Amino acid sequence: MNSQSNQLAILSRMHDPRDVLDAALDVFDRPVLATSLGPQSIVILDLLHALGRVDAVDVVWLDTGLMPPETEALHDALQQRFGIVIARQRPAHTVLEQEAREGPALWTRDPDRCCALRKVAPMQGVLRDRAAWITGLRRDQSPARAHTETVGWDRRNGLVRIAPLAWWTRDRMWQHLLSRALPYNPLLDQGYASVGCAPCTSPVGAGEDERAGRWRGRARTECGLHG
Ligand code: SF4
Repeated sequence: MNSQSNQLAILSRMHDPRDVLDAALDVFDRPVLATSLGPQSIVILDLLHALGRVDAVDVVWLDTGLMPPETEALHDALQQRFGIVIARQRPAHTVLEQEAREGPALWTRDPDRCCALRKVAPMQGVLRDRAAWITGLRRDQSPARAHTETVGWDRRNGLVRIAPLAWWTRDRMWQHLLSRALPYNPLLDQGYASVGCAPCTSPVGAGEDERAGRWRGRARTECGLHG
């Protein structure tokens, strides 16, 4: 086993996000932290900041052009809090251009295609020629994420995917977020458990998992970014 394989094997057995992030940054040069500005990414940014290594990652927000205004305001607040630039990656076409090409409100007719155009393709551009990216996936977010490993191979994008919070629970994440008085999306205090594009995000009811409010009424809880 070569040295990087050894390091990845050690990394894959780690469950503490601080250890994971510190070790990952010893292995990979400037991994991308891809964020939707959800609470997971905010905790990761805070942990990186505490390690003194927040400048060692490229932080990229996938701005679909359909985000609620609360998310836009959070982008500014997070840049101020951590003293960093959170780059904004946009789709190839604006919402109006998409409407001219694909017809109105594509998300109501073909959300797979809408996500492919506005999320998956732009993120593939960000991840091209990169060795690793960091995501905020947690095992307890939904059944589709229940087997998330700390380190995995992202077949769709052809690079290593690191999930430092894979083993943290929702409660543990919120404990960190609140104890550190970190900024977060105010919609999370209004019944939303996960905030994405405004047309495809709704509040969740008691007993529903965190992703249940995304694409309400459809048999999908993922946009395709995570394979
Ligand atoms: S979440 Fe909805 S609006 Fe956003 S890209 Fe996907 S289908 Fe389109």
